[in-house]
Amino acid sequence: MPPPNHNKNRQQKNQNRGDPRQKKCDFCEKDVVYIDYKDYPAMKPFIDYFGNIRARYYSGVCLKHQKMLRLSVERARFLGMLAYRK
Ligand SMILES: [Zn+2]
Repeated sequence: MPPPNHNKNRQQKNQNRGDPRQKKCDFCEKDVVYIDYKDYPAMKPFIDYFGNIRARYYSGVCLKHQKMLRLSVERARFLGMLAYRK
């Protein structure tokens, strides 16, 4: 017989990460053509606590916009507007 909290742990895991295939790119929905490196609020949801760019698997951003996001984040880091590492 499995330990009593075995099943509970598994359920929590499933709740935290949904099906990645159902995510849609936030930038595509807003028809974003260019991500401004000065626009911190636009980039913030795709950067984690340590200042790393979130992987596409978690954020659901498409490849085109992930590349644009990376470029703008790297520019902002170079200019000292974003942290390389917290
Ligand atoms: Zn997109």
